[in-house]
Amino acid sequence: MMADLVTGFSAWLIDSPIRSARSHGSGHVKRSVGRVILRLQTADGLTGWGEAAPWAPFGNTAETALAALRHVLLPGLVGTDARRIGARMADCAGALAGHSDAKAAIEMALWDIAGKRLGAPVSELFGGLVRDSIPLSFSIADPDFDADMGRAREMFAQGHRILKIKTGFLDHAEDLRRLTVLREGLPGLDLRVDYNQGLAPYDALRKLRDVEAFAPTFIEQPVPRGQEATLAMLAAALDAPVLADESVTSPEEMLRAVREGFADAVSIKLMKSGGLIAGRAIDAIAAAAGAPSYGGTLWEGGIALAAAAHLLATLPNCTLGCEFYMPSYALVRDIVPDVLRAGGGVVQVPSGAGLGVEVDMDVLRSQAVESF
Ligand code: MG
Repeated sequence: MMADLVTGFSAWLIDSPIRSARSHGSGHVKRSVGRVILRLQTADGLTGWGEAAPWAPFGNTAETALAALRHVLLPGLVGTDARRIGARMADCAGALAGHSDAKAAIEMALWDIAGKRLGAPVSELFGGLVRDSIPLSFSIADPDFDADMGRAREMFAQGHRILKIKTGFLDHAEDLRRLTVLREGLPGLDLRVDYNQGLAPYDALRKLRDVEAFAPTFIEQPVPRGQEATLAMLAAALDAPVLADESVTSPEEMLRAVREGFADAVSIKLMKSGGLIAGRAIDAIAAAAGAPSYGGTLWEGGIALAAAAHLLATLPNCTLGCEFYMPSYALVRDIVPDVLRAGGGVVQVPSGAGLGVEVDMDVLRSQAVESF
């Protein structure tokens, strides 16, 4: 048998408690995070890890990711060549539409195997580092704003300078009050604003002119996906850059964003793009248009964020930092020791072979709800 064939897989649906409640809008407050952890094995005994961290507003949950992996994507993977990652992702695309989170889990597991086979970190397979660490943004997303401000002050004292506040799900006056507290309380702050699609197109510009007065580095996804004409109008009317998140999930959508002028900047998330290869393609199109990229997250833990860090640290155009704070600042205990080692306002890019992560099987089993 060829040594590089995929011979087996295991997957765990896990539920991981988080340290404090988090809300990213949509009226939903999270207290734990459901994810799927994937392990692939090859005939020569290599193991690759992947993670799917779905976000329900994008159409998937951990349960649907697990089902897509179990019934469609993984059975088709067994017996195929693990080295041919582009071909494997084409197989996945042909087998099932959507389910970008499950596909991302497969792709990162294949890169993990490829790196381990070559004894190189995944970042080297993507051309090598252009930065050793990535500036870190922490999100003000606790329904208890004062609690998050306390955390932010502590992080600020340790050298942290980037914060992103979730806006648009309380009333506008309260958003402006919070922005005032941030601006007055933390001089020198690199402040970003993320509406998570929270504004109605009809009065978005009026509200954003108020927000723009706080000089945010960017305003992320003010109006819903599907309202790209309004997004383009806002990008043209505002001085503050408009960053597209939910409106750009694929290279095709990034190309459309360039043509229609609705993204001054873009967030790259492996869970949106369905893996590293497509994430890099989004960045390449954005770079060609002069739009910098940013490392976004849904609710990923250490495996998926390690994969994203390996990729983003190789992209010269990814100049807006990342929000990979879950393992260090939000999860009570991740299933992998924290390889990103967030501190001093940056995350470190893992240096071990493959993704550079090692799963603690006891923690994995203790958080598992279902497995196969
Ligand atoms: Mg966002």
